[in-house]
Amino acid sequence: EIEIRGLRKAFGAHEVLRGIDLDVARGEVVCVIGPSGSGKSTLLRCVNLLEEPTAGQVFVGGTEVTGLDVDIDAVRRRIGMVFQQFNLFPHVTVEENLTLPQRRVLGRDRAAAARVARENLERVGLLEKAGAYPSKLSGGQQQRVAIARALAMDPEVMLFDEPTSALDPELVGDVLAVMRGLARDGMTMMVVTHEMSFAREVADRVVFMDDGLVVEEGPAEQVVGAPREARTRDFLTRVL
Ligand code: ATP
Ligand code: MG
Repeated sequence: EIEIRGLRKAFGAHEVLRGIDLDVARGEVVCVIGPSGSGKSTLLRCVNLLEEPTAGQVFVGGTEVTGLDVDIDAVRRRIGMVFQQFNLFPHVTVEENLTLPQRRVLGRDRAAAARVARENLERVGLLEKAGAYPSKLSGGQQQRVAIARALAMDPEVMLFDEPTSALDPELVGDVLAVMRGLARDGMTMMVVTHEMSFAREVADRVVFMDDGLVVEEGPAEQVVGAPREARTRDFLTRVL
């Protein structure tokens, strides 16, 4: 579903991604781990073209999104992204947070957008908050709304960049539970996370990045449980 080939990204003279090759199959969950500054966010941002790669190719669903004549908006419509900061629209209700992008970007009519919004709020366990304003919700609830908002756009793949790092510890579990449910439903997911227990439990594959390169990848029980590379071991002893 996602194919990344020889991906490089430089900011000026600083090469942040130095040749990444990575595949995520349909329905697969890949967790990306690695130290701060290793390029994890930049990698996700190159997949949905929030950053323009310096070299290499990215394919989503067989379409090259790094092609010259690509329709960036069409690409982004196929890719849901959830960030550490929830970025909800503060001045409208939870339900309107879900309906406005559907109407604006997908052209859905009011009734269809509302139906999809409510389905997805139900999916993240927050249908009863449809009429609330985001500021009245906890951080964990806001993040679940952000996930529902992304899902309401019917993405082919979902990218998560440390979706629980800004949350109080007691709110992390509900967000991870929603993500676990998505994984079970067969969503293709790339998840940057420091939650090693989530990675071990949910990821089909774990990718360890350091200094702009994939150092090690494999099943979670191998990369997290019995890492082969010294750099992976060093990192894990620091985060576990
Ligand atoms: P963290 O775990 O702290 O989120 P990360 O692995 O996500 O780190 P990135 O955010 O991808 O790392 O950043 C990788 C490197 O690229 C860092 O050195 C960062 O300073 C640099 N960088 C990221 N975005 C830009 C930018 N827009 N302009 C210049 N440098 C940038
Ligand atoms: Mg990051």
